[in-house]
Amino acid sequence: MATGNEPTVLVVEDEASQRQVLAYNLKSRGYRALTAADGEEALLLIEEEMPDLVILDWMLPEVSGIEICRRIKAREETRDIPVIMLSARSEESDRVRGLETGADDYVVKPYSISELMARVKTNLRRLRKAVEGQVLRHGDISLDAEQHRVFRGDTAIHLGPTEFRLLHVFLEKPGRVWSREQLLDRVWGRDVYVDTRTVDVHVGRLRKALRGTGEGQDSVDPIRTVRGAGYALG
Ligand code: CA
Repeated sequence: MATGNEPTVLVVEDEASQRQVLAYNLKSRGYRALTAADGEEALLLIEEEMPDLVILDWMLPEVSGIEICRRIKAREETRDIPVIMLSARSEESDRVRGLETGADDYVVKPYSISELMARVKTNLRRLRKAVEGQVLRHGDISLDAEQHRVFRGDTAIHLGPTEFRLLHVFLEKPGRVWSREQLLDRVWGRDVYVDTRTVDVHVGRLRKALRGTGEGQDSVDPIRTVRGAGYALG
Protein backbone atom coordinates (compact mmCIF):
# COMPACT_ATOMS: atom_id res chain seq x y z
CA MET A 1 0.00 0.00 0.00
CA ALA A 2 1.28 3.45 -0.84
CA THR A 3 1.99 5.50 2.24
CA GLY A 4 3.67 8.49 0.65
CA ASN A 5 6.94 7.61 2.36
CA GLU A 6 8.47 5.30 -0.21
CA PRO A 7 10.68 6.78 -2.91
CA THR A 8 8.90 7.31 -6.20
CA VAL A 9 10.63 5.98 -9.30
CA LEU A 10 9.45 6.92 -12.77
CA VAL A 11 10.08 4.40 -15.55
CA VAL A 12 10.10 5.87 -19.04
CA GLU A 13 10.11 3.04 -21.55
CA ASP A 14 8.12 2.57 -24.74
CA GLU A 15 8.19 -1.22 -24.68
CA ALA A 16 5.24 -2.36 -22.58
CA SER A 17 6.76 -5.63 -21.42
CA GLN A 18 9.94 -3.96 -20.17
CA ARG A 19 7.93 -1.22 -18.54
CA GLN A 20 5.86 -3.79 -16.65
CA VAL A 21 8.84 -5.85 -15.57
CA LEU A 22 10.57 -2.76 -14.20
CA ALA A 23 7.47 -1.48 -12.42
CA TYR A 24 6.86 -4.91 -10.90
CA ASN A 25 10.43 -5.18 -9.63
CA LEU A 26 10.44 -1.67 -8.22
CA LYS A 27 7.18 -2.28 -6.36
CA SER A 28 8.40 -5.58 -4.97
CA ARG A 29 11.40 -3.70 -3.54
CA GLY A 30 9.19 -1.20 -1.80
CA TYR A 31 9.28 1.69 -4.24
CA ARG A 32 6.33 3.53 -5.66
CA ALA A 33 6.54 3.00 -9.41
CA LEU A 34 5.14 5.33 -12.05
CA THR A 35 5.37 4.54 -15.74
CA ALA A 36 5.37 6.54 -18.93
CA ALA A 37 5.38 5.13 -22.46
CA ASP A 38 6.65 8.24 -24.19
CA GLY A 39 8.41 11.52 -23.63
CA GLU A 40 5.32 13.70 -23.42
CA GLU A 41 3.79 11.55 -20.71
CA ALA A 42 7.13 11.44 -18.89
CA LEU A 43 7.48 15.23 -18.83
CA LEU A 44 3.93 15.57 -17.53
CA LEU A 45 4.50 13.05 -14.73
CA ILE A 46 7.79 14.67 -13.75
CA GLU A 47 5.99 17.99 -13.48
CA GLU A 48 3.09 16.59 -11.46
CA GLU A 49 4.75 13.99 -9.28
CA MET A 50 8.36 15.14 -8.89
CA PRO A 51 9.71 11.56 -8.72
CA ASP A 52 12.77 10.78 -6.62
CA LEU A 53 14.49 9.01 -9.50
CA VAL A 54 13.93 8.46 -13.22
CA ILE A 55 14.83 5.36 -15.22
CA LEU A 56 14.92 6.65 -18.76
CA ASP A 57 15.13 4.71 -22.00
CA TRP A 58 17.34 6.40 -24.59
CA MET A 59 15.32 5.31 -27.62
CA LEU A 60 11.81 6.68 -27.35
CA PRO A 61 9.37 7.79 -30.05
CA GLU A 62 9.13 11.56 -30.59
CA VAL A 63 10.88 13.16 -27.61
CA SER A 64 14.10 11.15 -27.08
CA GLY A 65 15.48 10.07 -23.73
CA ILE A 66 18.44 12.39 -24.24
CA GLU A 67 16.09 15.34 -24.69
CA ILE A 68 14.06 14.44 -21.60
CA CYS A 69 17.22 14.13 -19.56
CA ARG A 70 18.41 17.50 -20.80
CA ARG A 71 15.11 19.09 -19.77
CA ILE A 72 15.18 17.48 -16.32
CA LYS A 73 18.70 18.77 -15.74
CA ALA A 74 17.96 22.25 -17.10
CA ARG A 75 15.32 23.09 -14.50
CA GLU A 76 16.25 24.05 -10.97
CA GLU A 77 13.26 22.20 -9.51
CA THR A 78 14.14 18.90 -11.16
CA ARG A 79 17.89 18.94 -11.71
CA ASP A 80 18.70 16.96 -8.56
CA ILE A 81 16.49 14.04 -9.58
CA PRO A 82 18.89 11.20 -10.42
CA VAL A 83 18.48 9.89 -13.97
CA ILE A 84 19.54 6.38 -14.94
CA MET A 85 19.74 6.12 -18.71
CA LEU A 86 18.98 2.79 -20.38
CA SER A 87 20.44 2.15 -23.78
CA ALA A 88 20.88 -0.63 -26.28
CA ARG A 89 23.96 1.16 -27.48
CA SER A 90 27.09 -0.02 -25.84
CA GLU A 91 29.72 2.11 -27.47
CA GLU A 92 31.86 4.20 -25.22
CA SER A 93 31.04 7.38 -27.14
CA ASP A 94 27.32 6.84 -26.47
CA ARG A 95 27.98 6.29 -22.81
CA VAL A 96 29.93 9.52 -22.66
CA ARG A 97 27.20 11.34 -24.57
CA GLY A 98 24.58 9.99 -22.20
CA LEU A 99 26.48 11.18 -19.17
CA GLU A 100 27.23 14.52 -20.82
CA THR A 101 23.52 15.34 -21.03
CA GLY A 102 23.53 15.10 -17.25
CA ALA A 103 22.42 11.50 -16.72
CA ASP A 104 23.69 10.28 -13.35
CA ASP A 105 24.13 6.69 -14.44
CA TYR A 106 24.09 4.63 -17.59
CA VAL A 107 23.02 1.01 -18.00
CA VAL A 108 23.36 -0.98 -21.22
CA LYS A 109 20.56 -3.23 -22.47
CA PRO A 110 20.10 -6.10 -22.00
CA TYR A 111 20.62 -5.44 -18.32
CA SER A 112 20.20 -7.65 -15.32
CA ILE A 113 17.25 -6.56 -13.19
CA SER A 114 19.16 -7.04 -9.97
CA GLU A 115 22.02 -4.87 -11.20
CA LEU A 116 19.64 -2.13 -12.29
CA MET A 117 17.83 -2.27 -8.93
CA ALA A 118 21.19 -1.97 -7.18
CA ARG A 119 21.92 1.16 -9.21
CA VAL A 120 18.53 2.59 -8.25
CA LYS A 121 19.37 2.05 -4.60
CA THR A 122 22.85 3.57 -4.93
CA ASN A 123 21.61 6.65 -6.74
CA LEU A 124 18.85 7.25 -4.21
CA ARG A 125 21.31 6.87 -1.34
CA ARG A 126 23.71 9.31 -2.96
CA LEU A 127 20.89 11.80 -3.35
CA ARG A 128 19.83 11.43 0.27
CA LYS A 129 23.38 12.02 1.50
CA ALA A 130 23.66 15.15 -0.62
CA VAL A 131 20.34 16.42 0.70
CA GLU A 132 21.24 15.73 4.34
CA GLY A 133 24.50 17.64 4.25
CA GLN A 134 23.07 20.45 2.23
CA VAL A 135 21.55 23.76 2.96
CA LEU A 136 18.14 23.64 1.32
CA ARG A 137 17.11 26.84 -0.37
CA HIS A 138 14.17 28.33 -2.15
CA GLY A 139 13.99 32.01 -2.96
CA ASP A 140 15.16 33.86 0.15
CA ILE A 141 14.45 30.91 2.49
CA SER A 142 17.29 28.66 3.57
CA LEU A 143 17.34 25.70 5.92
CA ASP A 144 20.49 24.13 7.32
CA ALA A 145 19.49 20.64 8.43
CA GLU A 146 22.74 19.89 10.26
CA GLN A 147 22.78 23.07 12.29
CA HIS A 148 19.01 23.15 12.55
CA ARG A 149 18.81 26.75 11.43
CA VAL A 150 16.41 28.60 9.18
CA PHE A 151 16.87 31.98 7.57
CA ARG A 152 14.68 34.23 5.51
CA GLY A 153 17.14 36.53 3.80
CA ASP A 154 19.49 37.48 6.63
CA THR A 155 16.89 37.07 9.34
CA ALA A 156 17.06 33.98 11.55
CA ILE A 157 13.66 32.31 11.86
CA HIS A 158 12.82 30.33 14.97
CA LEU A 159 10.63 27.33 14.32
CA GLY A 160 9.18 24.61 16.50
CA PRO A 161 10.24 21.04 15.65
CA THR A 162 7.06 20.29 13.67
CA GLU A 163 7.27 23.50 11.64
CA PHE A 164 10.95 22.77 11.00
CA ARG A 165 10.14 19.32 9.61
CA LEU A 166 7.29 20.76 7.55
CA LEU A 167 9.55 23.35 5.99
CA HIS A 168 12.16 20.66 5.34
CA VAL A 169 9.59 18.61 3.39
CA PHE A 170 8.49 21.68 1.40
CA LEU A 171 12.08 22.61 0.58
CA GLU A 172 12.96 19.13 -0.65
CA LYS A 173 10.57 19.62 -3.54
CA PRO A 174 9.67 23.25 -4.07
CA GLY A 175 6.61 23.64 -6.25
CA ARG A 176 5.23 20.23 -5.48
CA VAL A 177 1.70 20.21 -4.12
CA TRP A 178 1.42 18.11 -0.95
CA SER A 179 -1.92 16.83 0.27
CA ARG A 180 -2.62 17.02 4.00
CA GLU A 181 -2.36 13.21 4.18
CA GLN A 182 1.05 13.24 2.51
CA LEU A 183 2.29 15.91 4.90
CA LEU A 184 0.97 13.89 7.83
CA ASP A 185 2.90 10.83 6.64
CA ARG A 186 6.09 12.77 6.07
CA VAL A 187 6.10 15.00 9.11
CA TRP A 188 4.27 13.04 11.79
CA GLY A 189 4.85 9.51 10.52
CA ARG A 190 2.35 7.07 9.13
CA ASP A 191 1.50 5.31 12.37
CA VAL A 192 0.57 8.36 14.36
CA TYR A 193 -3.04 9.37 14.52
CA VAL A 194 -3.28 13.08 13.89
CA ASP A 195 -6.25 14.90 12.47
CA THR A 196 -5.59 16.46 9.07
CA ARG A 197 -6.68 19.81 10.52
CA THR A 198 -3.56 19.67 12.66
CA VAL A 199 -1.62 20.07 9.41
CA ASP A 200 -3.48 23.32 8.75
CA VAL A 201 -2.59 24.59 12.21
CA HIS A 202 1.12 23.92 11.77
CA VAL A 203 1.21 25.25 8.23
CA GLY A 204 -0.40 28.39 9.67
CA ARG A 205 2.34 28.67 12.30
CA LEU A 206 5.04 28.09 9.71
CA ARG A 207 3.56 30.80 7.51
CA LYS A 208 3.43 33.23 10.39
CA ALA A 209 7.04 32.53 11.35
CA LEU A 210 8.27 32.92 7.78
CA ARG A 211 6.45 36.20 7.32
CA GLY A 212 8.14 37.52 10.39
CA THR A 213 6.92 40.35 12.53
CA GLY A 214 5.73 42.30 9.52
CA GLU A 215 8.54 44.86 9.73
CA GLY A 216 8.80 44.82 6.01
CA GLN A 217 5.21 44.86 4.85
CA ASP A 218 6.44 43.16 1.73
CA SER A 219 7.21 39.90 3.50
CA VAL A 220 5.40 37.66 1.06
CA ASP A 221 3.75 34.41 2.14
CA PRO A 222 5.85 31.72 0.44
CA ILE A 223 3.33 28.92 1.00
CA ARG A 224 0.52 28.46 -1.41
CA THR A 225 -2.83 26.91 -0.49
CA VAL A 226 -4.06 24.83 -3.39
CA ARG A 227 -7.80 24.48 -3.13
CA GLY A 228 -8.95 20.92 -2.75
CA ALA A 229 -5.40 19.65 -3.00
CA GLY A 230 -3.17 20.90 -0.20
CA TYR A 231 -0.12 23.09 0.13
CA ALA A 232 2.96 23.97 -1.89
CA LEU A 233 6.03 26.10 -1.42
CA GLY A 234 6.49 28.72 -4.10
CA1 CA B 1 12.86 2.03 -26.46
